[in-house]
Amino acid sequence: MTPDPEVRFRACLDDVAAYKPGRPPARTDGRPTYKLSSNENPYPPLPGVLAAAVQAAEQMNRYPDMGAVELLEALSARFGVPVSDLAVGTGSVALLYHLLQATVHDGDEVVYAWRSFEAYPIAVQLTGATSVQVPLTDEARHDFKAMEAAITDRTKVVLVCTPNNPTGPVVHRDELLAFLDAVPSNVLVVLDEAYREFVRDPDVVDGVDLYRDRPNVLVLRTFSKAYGLAGFRVGYAIGHPDVVGAIRKCALPFGVSYVAQAAAIASLQVEEELLERVESLVAERTRVVATLRASGWEVPDTQTNFVWLDLGEETVAFSEAVQAEGVSVRPFPGDGVRVSIGEPEANDLFLQVACAWRS
Ligand code: PMP
Repeated sequence: MTPDPEVRFRACLDDVAAYKPGRPPARTDGRPTYKLSSNENPYPPLPGVLAAAVQAAEQMNRYPDMGAVELLEALSARFGVPVSDLAVGTGSVALLYHLLQATVHDGDEVVYAWRSFEAYPIAVQLTGATSVQVPLTDEARHDFKAMEAAITDRTKVVLVCTPNNPTGPVVHRDELLAFLDAVPSNVLVVLDEAYREFVRDPDVVDGVDLYRDRPNVLVLRTFSKAYGLAGFRVGYAIGHPDVVGAIRKCALPFGVSYVAQAAAIASLQVEEELLERVESLVAERTRVVATLRASGWEVPDTQTNFVWLDLGEETVAFSEAVQAEGVSVRPFPGDGVRVSIGEPEANDLFLQVACAWRS
């Protein structure tokens, strides 16, 4: 038998739970299956985006542009921000890891709402810092008064997920501004806006507007959701050049592949068409939420491409019932189920099970 290694690992790794990806759907005797467990975009790539990626693949023997110059310039033009305020990474989750590496270690605290994005506790724990989780309100929204009270002199970073994964509501401008006024200016407030393009609530806070006057605000966004590039891994950060510079120092060399850079640039060129697809998903979201509410479900406001069902102890049974119809969803045992908005046929299958569940 192979002997156990005597390698010494950092103690903070001991209780790190592995990130659980959304399950693929189970097979159902030849019937179509659908994945509504990872908040992916159900649409296939647009032809121009695919062609740009295929062309870029011809250069796979070369390293990508480490500075991602063309992509940074395209983002700079798109958002009207200088290149010095931008960083790209292999998904916005990579940028989150880099910035935590740049800011916290043993003894530091990172405050965020809970439940929120599953990657937060893992990313924080890997640095040796401590997560301070502040329960959401009854409407599944951030409780900023409680978050303010949770800040101590050990707090270096606050993570704000808007709209919140997995519950759906956005953070409003007025509540965030009041919170920022109360937070010490040496605490970095990260706005994770992965689902920003799905937001239709006019009172939403917009990180890109906000960071210009607030050097302790960093915005994270991604090409994974609205732009449909989840498989290519491209996200970006927008913030003060010192904060962005610290992230860049921690980034893996040549992280974002040339194919991913090319697809992201092409996506910005066909953004209008991509955002029309987002509009269809938003229309589907409206239909799904209305149908659920009409059949007795209490669904929190969702400004994302998913809905949250507060199922408590019924979580696992419900997700298995949906799975039996060939649709995978995301259960958080004991808490609730997150269901992505997919193609109409997938949403219909999910709604059939959900409406029957409540009758
Ligand atoms: N933030 C939130 C809130 C998310 O839900 C996700 C994806 N599940 C991410 C960040 C990461 O996205 P990516 O790394 O694909 O850009």
